[in-house]
Amino acid sequence: MEKAIAPQSSKLFWQTRAKLAIWYASVMGVILALCGVGVYEGIAHAHKMTLHREVASVAGTLHDSLEPVLDEPGRLTDDVRRFLPDLCRFGDSCITNTYRHAVGALRQGEYYAYLLDNGKTPIAVAGTPPSDLPLPANVPIFLTDVTETRYYQVTIKLHTQDNRDWGYLQMGRSLEAWDNYLNAVLWLLLLGFPLALLVVGSASWVLAGLAMQPIYDSYQQIQRFTGDAAHELRTPLAAIRAMVESTLRLKRIDEAEARETLTAVRRQNQRLSELATDLLLLSRMERGIEMPRRACCLNDIVADVEEELAALAVQERVSLRVEIPKMPIEVWGDEGQLYRAIANLVANGIQYTLEGGTVTVRLAEVTPFAVVEVEDTGIGIAEADRDRLFDRFYRVQSDRSRHTGGSGLGLSIVRAIVRSHQGKITLESELGRGSCFTVRLPLKV
Ligand code: ADP
Repeated sequence: MEKAIAPQSSKLFWQTRAKLAIWYASVMGVILALCGVGVYEGIAHAHKMTLHREVASVAGTLHDSLEPVLDEPGRLTDDVRRFLPDLCRFGDSCITNTYRHAVGALRQGEYYAYLLDNGKTPIAVAGTPPSDLPLPANVPIFLTDVTETRYYQVTIKLHTQDNRDWGYLQMGRSLEAWDNYLNAVLWLLLLGFPLALLVVGSASWVLAGLAMQPIYDSYQQIQRFTGDAAHELRTPLAAIRAMVESTLRLKRIDEAEARETLTAVRRQNQRLSELATDLLLLSRMERGIEMPRRACCLNDIVADVEEELAALAVQERVSLRVEIPKMPIEVWGDEGQLYRAIANLVANGIQYTLEGGTVTVRLAEVTPFAVVEVEDTGIGIAEADRDRLFDRFYRVQSDRSRHTGGSGLGLSIVRAIVRSHQGKITLESELGRGSCFTVRLPLKV
């Protein structure tokens, strides 16, 4: 589902989204318009071709039927009327409106046929001729009469039985039905276009939103990161400044005071450089910079972590248990980084477990993975915090007030290390009962 972009901080994003949507919609609009013109032209062309074939075929059939019954140039025989029962000679009384309704060989009342002599003077007419249509040249042609009705007409030369020029047959048909159909198509396209544009516009808006969301999320993440980093840097810097200023305010500084101040400055300095190192490490891993890979034995790493953190466990009155199989479990990676990741999880387990609790580290092989589980019986992690727990600088709210000293980078470093080893880290936790972090790393093959 599309997440809402916060309106206040994101004017730029709304503007960019709107611009993107307008661009999408414009490009799609042009494509749709071109498609519409193409479809219309295609239909019109297909109609024209069919029309020409149809008129030419009807005219050809009539021509072939008439020629054997024509004897003298320009003379109409009775046999001609066999093929054109509604034929009316000019000057006869039937040349009124009556022939307009005649239905004969020229089907559906849409066709008309003029017979012209060799001088192109009309002799007779059949069918439904257009009103007041100029008689045109010998080529197939589109014509429009005074009522604005369009006609298509072909002209064929007629010969007598003994092959003398008889005159011309001009055959045409009204395009009213065709034009009505084409008009309907045109209206459909014209009305459909704004509707389609509306749909495309809405879709563009939604798509632009979807495209912008990851950018907006990472923009927010960067903003949050900058704020958190500044905050983390400010604390030791403010401490250093306060200590130096209070020492400088003394009239005389004896050696013990100077040492105390310098020791405190060194401690804060240490914190700052650790922070800088962690951030650098994170950024290198997130940029995917390749680290040297060697075969690492997780049994040794877990044993080293136990050795290193046993004292902390004793200090915190937490029992630290380690289950390491005899069979060596190896992965490809950076030993230092893997050590750091596991030590971080175990140190957290000890730190967030109350006196008398237990932290258990289990190493196992579940082909194709090496699995390291760090389980504690500590305070647990609320569901609301679990999603963001691996974010940089994220610390559980209740933990901030406990001043456990961490910067909130620990778990994000663990995750970055695990990911850079093509592994996965998962968390199961229950508030008040404890947590279990599981790291899966591909086994060395
Ligand atoms: P920190 O350096 O502050 O410990 P982490 O990234 O290691 O930062 O941990 C982030 C937060 O996750 C901590 O502030 C803590 O509240 C919580 N957390 C980490 N591990 C545990 C755990 N095993 N049990 C309960 N809470 C934990």
